[in-house]
This record gives sequence, C-alpha cells and structure tokens, in this order.
Amino acid sequence: MQNYDLLIERIAKSSGLDKAEIEKRIEAKRAKLSGLISKEGAAQIISAELGISLDNIELKISELMPGMKKVNLIGKVINLFPVREYNKNNRSGKIGSLIIADETGSLRVVLWDLNHIQLIEKKEINNDCVVEIKNGLMRENELHLSGFSEIKISNLVIKDVKRENNVAEKLIKDLQEGQSAKVRGTIVQLFPIRFFYVCPECNKKANQETDGFICAEHGRISAKERALLNFVVDDGTETIRVVLFSDQIIKLIPEENLKDPEKMLAFRDDLLGSEFFVSGNIKRNQLFNNLELSASDVERVDLDKLIEVLEKN
Ligand SMILES: [Zn+2]
Repeated sequence: MQNYDLLIERIAKSSGLDKAEIEKRIEAKRAKLSGLISKEGAAQIISAELGISLDNIELKISELMPGMKKVNLIGKVINLFPVREYNKNNRSGKIGSLIIADETGSLRVVLWDLNHIQLIEKKEINNDCVVEIKNGLMRENELHLSGFSEIKISNLVIKDVKRENNVAEKLIKDLQEGQSAKVRGTIVQLFPIRFFYVCPECNKKANQETDGFICAEHGRISAKERALLNFVVDDGTETIRVVLFSDQIIKLIPEENLKDPEKMLAFRDDLLGSEFFVSGNIKRNQLFNNLELSASDVERVDLDKLIEVLEKN
C-alpha cells in the first residue's frame, strides 16, 4: 500500500488537488470499472486524466510496476553479477546485471548497452556504489536499460537500504529462469544437509588437498565451512527445488544443531509439511535441467501476520 500512498502524494503535489479528492476520484473510477482494476491502476488513470506524467520523475523501487517506461531512479548497488555473453539467432552480445536497492526495496537491473556494460567490466560500477538511472523500462520485475537509457555513478549517499526483494509473490507453475520471485509453499521433501569449503576471500569453492585448502585464485587459504540444504516446496500448482546456503539455513535451524544428527531429525520432522515464504532467483540446474530457486530469504508463514496483511488490502 506504500506504493499507492506515494502515487497519491505525487498526484496531489502535481495537480494541487487534495488527497481526499484524489482518492474520491480513484474510487469513482474503480466503481465505474466494476472494481476490475487495482487502486494503483486507477491512480495511474486519474493521473493521466489530470495530465500528470509519472514518466521522468524520480521513483522509489517500491513504486515500480511492470510495463513502466522512462523510469528514473537512484539506488545503491548491492549485488553485481559477472557479465554474460549470449549467442542466439545469429545475434551475439553481452548482458550485464546487478541488483540495486533503496529505502523501499531492491531491484534487478539488466544492461544491454555495451557502454553501460563496460562500466562493470572496468570496475567503475562496484558493490556499494550509488548509481543514477534514467529512462529505464520495467519488464516483469526487472529494469532494463537500452542504448537510450543512462546509468552513471552518483555522489549521493544512501545509508539504509532495504535488501530483501519487494517482488510479488508468484505461483510456482509461472516461474521463469532469471526471475526474482517469492513463492509460498509447503516443504514436501527435504534432503540431508551437506557441507563444503570456500575461500574466505572470494567465496568460491576451495579444493581440499592433503595438507590444506587451495583456492584457484588465492592459493593456500584457511577455508571457511559452508552448509547447503535442498528441499522441495509445493504450492499446489507445481513443485520447485530450493537451494539454501548457510545464512539462510540458520534462519530455520540454529547453527549449533546442524551437525547433530538427532536434533537434525527433529528439525526435519518439524520442517516437513510446514509452510514457508521463499524468495530468491530462479536458476536452471544444469545437471537436472530443471528450475530451482536459489534462496536469498526464507521465512516461516506466520498466519496471524498474513491475515493482518490480507485485511489491510
Ligand atoms: Zn579465493
């Protein structure tokens, strides 16, 4: 609803009408359309009728909606992905992607323009730097930048960002590779926890040799142990395998119990059949050629909280 309130504020500011009047018009519009559109959608129509363009104003991430054009925003880079090369239908090129966040949420930004991608390759765009984006296009829940868009480093300081994804909840049957998504489902299968070692510098897998660990990039290291947990969730439409790493696992099972087989059995009984919200990125598992959800957040469904949210909407 924060989204809606911001829209009302913007319309009030640009039109000079008071908020109550705007809300009245929005309700009238919804009634006329038999409630077929959301409050946000009706607010957009009202703003268009008042001749107020929501294009080219600086938006917060929580205000973004699929299909928006000419999106301007400022955000802090919280995750940078390696530049990928593609070769499809005789066209080849590069794709850059990063996650930015502001006070209201986080968002995947996809770069198609080589000049923009160079900013990543030349390490001019780094984690924690603030970027200013102009003229982006929202596709699904991602912001896409073409050659007509701009991205540059900003001197603005953004202190507190909301790192968790603000992405809409999706049905498992509708999930697509590359998306950020939040699903709600019941754990129907749980695999034994596994442990592996990573380099403390680059977090990549460390190779165990007889006398210690080696990182391909950093040589001899004292490796960090990490845990990996896989489970399958079912939301009634389909199932998907979820991959959880240490930081997320400890939200479900206290760290000190991970290596205690008896306690793990108890947790297993508790987790199986319980309902969770899981958000993260949808990736293709090359080995099984199926989609899996790499979790960046996991939360047990709290029914009381859920009812509260549903009643507000
Ligand atoms: Zn390393």
